[in-house]
Amino acid sequence: MLNADVVIIGGGATGAGILRDLCLRGVKAILVERGDLGCGTSSRFHGLLHSGARYAVRDRHAAVECIEENTILRRIAKSCVEPISSIFIRTPEDDPDYEELWVSSCRAAGISAQPLTIEQALEMEPNLSPKIQSAYLCPGAAIDGFRLLWHIFDSAKKLGGQVLTYTNVIGIDTQNGKVEGITVQDKFTHETYKIACNYLINATGPWCARVASLAGIDINIKPSKGTLIAFNHRISTNVIHRLHKPADADIFVPHGTVTILGTTSMDADPDDTSTTQQEVEEMMAIGRATFENLDSYRILRVFAGCRPLYAGDDKNASGRAVSRDFVALEHGPRDGLDNFMSVCGGKFTTHRQMAEKVCNIVCPILGNHEPCTTAKIPLDAEPDPALMEKARQVFPSYGTKLSFNRQGAERFATIVKKIEEDSDQGEIICECENVTRAEIEMVAKESTTHSISDLRRRTRLGMGTCQGTFCTYRAVGTVQEVTDTWTGNTKDLFKEFLEARWKGIRPVMWGNQIKDVELTRGIYEVSLNINHEDDLALALQEQKQEQGKPQTPPQAAAAAVKTAPVEPAPKATAPATAAPAATAAPAAESKAAPAEKKSTPKASTTKIAVKTKRKTSTHASSKEGK
Ligand SMILES: Cc1cc2nc3c(=O)[nH]c(=O)nc-3n(C[C@H](O)[C@H](O)[C@H](O)COP(=O)(O)OP(=O)(O)OC[C@H]3O[C@@H](n4cnc5c(N)ncnc54)[C@H](O)[C@@H]3O)c2cc1C
Repeated sequence: MLNADVVIIGGGATGAGILRDLCLRGVKAILVERGDLGCGTSSRFHGLLHSGARYAVRDRHAAVECIEENTILRRIAKSCVEPISSIFIRTPEDDPDYEELWVSSCRAAGISAQPLTIEQALEMEPNLSPKIQSAYLCPGAAIDGFRLLWHIFDSAKKLGGQVLTYTNVIGIDTQNGKVEGITVQDKFTHETYKIACNYLINATGPWCARVASLAGIDINIKPSKGTLIAFNHRISTNVIHRLHKPADADIFVPHGTVTILGTTSMDADPDDTSTTQQEVEEMMAIGRATFENLDSYRILRVFAGCRPLYAGDDKNASGRAVSRDFVALEHGPRDGLDNFMSVCGGKFTTHRQMAEKVCNIVCPILGNHEPCTTAKIPLDAEPDPALMEKARQVFPSYGTKLSFNRQGAERFATIVKKIEEDSDQGEIICECENVTRAEIEMVAKESTTHSISDLRRRTRLGMGTCQGTFCTYRAVGTVQEVTDTWTGNTKDLFKEFLEARWKGIRPVMWGNQIKDVELTRGIYEVSLNINHEDDLALALQEQKQEQGKPQTPPQAAAAAVKTAPVEPAPKATAPATAAPAATAAPAAESKAAPAEKKSTPKASTTKIAVKTKRKTSTHASSKEGK
């Protein structure tokens, strides 16, 4: 049986921070996450490393925590933080009386708020509305959630920490008023097994109440959903905040190649990450006070996450009224169940400090009195100048620093070596984010990577302007060549990724976006026949049954095209095992695309050459469909 001193449930910022802190203190720890690292709220956020200025008036304590952590993370997580500034602007719609209070509150919290003239502000940010009334320069920064979590994981792994992704906690094992371990289920093999521990930490963010209930414990969590809009370029150089009481759609964060506008706040189920066109329209209406030309910028996608807000005893609390503070609930004194704690609330920005406070409670219980060192020890090594120079000579474009920041020093050295030895490895698979074949192959081969979405989280593949239109088929082809350990088949790899992208595009289908969607649809639906393959096989099967004779593929394809929905159909999300139609393809089809095996978890990738598929069934269907 697996065992550890401490088991942490939840692979978001809170859980990851705790894992690293424990490992640095020499505690044997295992983190268990039901999906990929950062698949919860810790990637569904603004990506803002708060300075605290937003909270200065209402919550000085939170403001001070933010500015302290902002300073620390800029120092210890350089490759995950973009050290830009924040500009707070007051528009004609904002209360002028709030400004004075805000300035004095920032001063009291130790947050620099340097006044700018309107001319200075517009010179720094020419897209800002010329109607702004005042502007202040504050600290601030953008932080990459996925990257930080993977850097934490790498750092913890070197210290003996263990992370089990795609492992769902389905039970909390207790005896005599104490937690003794957990029961988990592997997502792919469906195997269930136990992990023993001396202490259990529930760091599952908005799912905290659900996980605590596995031990019969009640926690009043109020998950609060926030929607975010990603635009296809950097509208500003710095983070732009409205200078007013925190409200909806009042922050723009430039992030890598895009800008994120957010957010909203509404009570929701933690699994609900749906978004609507109405929300987008409302946010755009507010956003125009900051950037008058907002409508002329292309929206890439919309996404949402749920804040893990703790409402204490207040059963009626909701939305922005619930405190953003973090709490560490010790279930021994609170509920009579020892060796168990739930950690909820807080912010991504303050995850390290939350972890420090949690470990300061848990470690002495385990007899460990080591001090916290996470504020001092950097997450990753600085770039080696000689290696960077070599990389610049062999890389195809300017993407060396991007790749270093994404992958860290050791992996980056491997990438450079691969490209040096074989220039084909330098081929760019994702142009928007400058991701090379060497980087894709390396991450694809790692045991923690199971899907194109996993690859995306590690490399930013498909996250830029084209939203996967040109890189998805290249990535799937590359993956098929180098790994046979992924679950699912080719079609499922495509579908899983495109469906995830599609979910964010659906609420913003207007203007130029429609042209891009049509291009994507042309490539994947018409040329690669991603959506219609099942329909084709089904149509053939039905016709065979009805007419008692086999039909030629072009006729069947035409029938399938006629009956196919215009939008990618929801059934496309069906798991590999639920796609029997593909195995029933006729002889001509199966010659080009060998019959797919029913997927056996973790080991049954069926290789279907993308090029071959394009030449056969898809060609026939597009011709006949005209
Ligand atoms: C719209 C929005 C914008 C935000 N913007 C910012 C910002 O700009 N800056 C900032 O500092 N903060 C921001 N926040 C807050 C911040 O994102 C969250 O406070 C933080 O990410 C929470 O991290 P967490 O680790 O507690 O939760 P999560 O990241 O949600 O992690 C919990 C994990 O637990 C896992 N889990 C659940 N159940 C189980 C189970 N049974 N077994 C195993 N694993 C399980 C989930 O899959 C999930 O990965 C924002 C939040 C929202 C919603």
